[in-house]
Amino acid sequence: MIPPIANNFVAGETADGAVSHVESLNRDGIAGILNLLGEHYTDRTAADPDADAYVDLVRRLGATDLDGCVSVKPSQIGLDISDRAFRENLDRIVDAADAEGVFVWVDMEDHETTDVTLNAVDDLGHRTGGNVGVCVQANLKRTRDDLERLAEVPGKVRLVKGAYNEPASIAYKEKSKVDEVYRDLLEQMFTEFDGGIAVGSHDPHMIAHARRLHEQYGTPYEVQMLMGVREDGQRDLADAGIETWQYVPYGDKWFSYFYRRVRERKSNALFALRAVAGI
Ligand code: FAD
Repeated sequence: MIPPIANNFVAGETADGAVSHVESLNRDGIAGILNLLGEHYTDRTAADPDADAYVDLVRRLGATDLDGCVSVKPSQIGLDISDRAFRENLDRIVDAADAEGVFVWVDMEDHETTDVTLNAVDDLGHRTGGNVGVCVQANLKRTRDDLERLAEVPGKVRLVKGAYNEPASIAYKEKSKVDEVYRDLLEQMFTEFDGGIAVGSHDPHMIAHARRLHEQYGTPYEVQMLMGVREDGQRDLADAGIETWQYVPYGDKWFSYFYRRVRERKSNALFALRAVAGI
């Protein structure tokens, strides 16, 4: 069972818990992006069942009128095993989702996975007429070029700052530089994309920048944040009429995800400590 302190960041161990979390989000005008926790599988006996679980999940979402979609990690569905395993599993998730009218996001992992991930999304974006989206990372120097390419691919693109510790030869390391590049890349998206822009950030400065760009260029956009992070801010955005999505992790592999959230920010650690101490 997930302890109550982790429940803030993870919507339970089962799809039932995750779907009912999306129901409550929808009541606040926020849509849900469901992510079954798991990554870096080296065997198909682990990767294939998670792909099966996503196929079941998109069918389940498709049978409801919930505002929800899924987000998949490439190494969870076979990328560390082979490109072929990844593509077979991604294809069947996307085909099932497409048949149900459920959108599929593909998360972006470290830089060694960027090309194969973008190639898959390019292909599936055209095949489904835009029912897939992909995450790109502002800390990678290549991302400006990747956005040029993605502007021609039907679907959506989530811009994040980047969660992986990449070498300085290919990535910006200074936080202030990543912020500056994030702003520039947002402007590139608002000017070169017709829509499908997802601002994947909790940073009020980046969100304010996106709002200004929207006012200037009129391009539609959405904001995406993680469950348990700035949830008041998420509700404020939804109340202001901005399309807001919450990324909702669930599943039995919750511990390492929760531990990452606690480590990355003092306020999360304090929150966890207070919950343990009952204060
Ligand atoms: P930061 O630079 O961490 O913080 C900037 C400001 O945001 C802070 O000063 C504060 O004002 C506010 N803030 C941030 N966190 C908190 C908090 N816990 N509580 C209160 N205020 C806070 N990375 C990948 O590499 N690949 C992915 O596929 C991927 N998918 C993502 C999907 C979503 C929906 C989101 C939100 C993030 C994803 N990330 C992904 C992670 C991303 O790359 C960043 O590591 C992460 O979002 C932290 O950057 P930030 O822009 O939120 O703000």
